[in-house]
Amino acid sequence: MKKHNFSAGPSVLAKEVIENTSKAVLDLNGIGLSVMEISHRGKDFQAVMDETIALFKELLNIPEGYQVLFLGGGASMQFCMIPFNLLNKKAAYLETGAWAKKAIKEAKFFGDVDLVASSSDKNFSYIPKNYSIPADADYFHITTNNTIYGTEIHEDIDSPVPLVADMSSDIFARPIDVSKYAMIYGGAQKNLGPAGATFIIVREDILGKVERQIPTMLNYQTHIEQGSMFNTPPCLPIYTCMETLRWLKKIGGVKKMQEMNKEKAELLYNEIDRNSLFNGTADLDSRSLMNICFVMNEEYKELEPEFLSFATSKGMVGLKGHRSVGGFRASTYNALPKESVKALVEAMQEFENKHKK
Ligand SMILES: *Cc1c(COP(=O)(O)O)cnc(C)c1O
Repeated sequence: MKKHNFSAGPSVLAKEVIENTSKAVLDLNGIGLSVMEISHRGKDFQAVMDETIALFKELLNIPEGYQVLFLGGGASMQFCMIPFNLLNKKAAYLETGAWAKKAIKEAKFFGDVDLVASSSDKNFSYIPKNYSIPADADYFHITTNNTIYGTEIHEDIDSPVPLVADMSSDIFARPIDVSKYAMIYGGAQKNLGPAGATFIIVREDILGKVERQIPTMLNYQTHIEQGSMFNTPPCLPIYTCMETLRWLKKIGGVKKMQEMNKEKAELLYNEIDRNSLFNGTADLDSRSLMNICFVMNEEYKELEPEFLSFATSKGMVGLKGHRSVGGFRASTYNALPKESVKALVEAMQEFENKHKK
């Protein structure tokens, strides 16, 4: 029986995405070859790449002037590629968690970092507000969803300088106004596909402005000119991303997905707030729709391992919280069925009935 997969990443994929991918692994469109054993430059894979990019543009309503790339290296490679390509003197960063900190660390190799605000004072349990973005920064970098701490920026913010966003864990979770961003990037393995592919949406006019020389593989312009095929792209992960995007389109696109995500998150947050054993860790207005972090109240703290094994016995996996927050984290990505959230809520209620003092 399929488990309830609350894993933070790599994470749950839609059933039909896995089924269709496994078919293509055996035989792609009846051509007598696996998607894993064909040239990335042949017409069969080119069709996969073209459709993936076309669906990306369609589903996110990406305006003219932007390129969509698929590279290797993960979101972590982007932490360094972004300043390499964009940072001349100074960049502004919003420090909202562990991933933002890693991005900041890399930017410092290339220039000054203006830390406009940080929520490190309260273990990243909220999204800072009322900060000002310096108008002389080369760009402003944000992490829209903080996978580890369960906080999320729910709106597209206005920035006086090019806005760069790590959307690894909430891409395609809601409609976004791409025109407000100069660049959006992320690893595929949270909301889009398996590990191995990194997506990048970049507005071309921000490139070519730094004075330093950029090694070929780390230069966005190389990959734009070569249609993400300067070297061999991660073919199979890209294929799976395409299947996810087909599935997303069939369901009704990002607007429908946002409604479904809200329903799922509400169901679980309501139970966290109601249940006398549990507490949410993120501030109410910063709560993520993708990663829902909660702990057991002090009074019941010692029961945390027991709840984890109770949930495991009911077919739930991936619920252990990140060590920097503790407790539990339920990742409720696009592909997680509502039934899985209902199962978790029922387990929490059952556990409360058994243990409430
Ligand atoms: C998982 C994650 C990353 C790291 O992605 P890799 O592809 O493993 O490098 C970066 N940022 C966020 C927000 C993430 O959730």
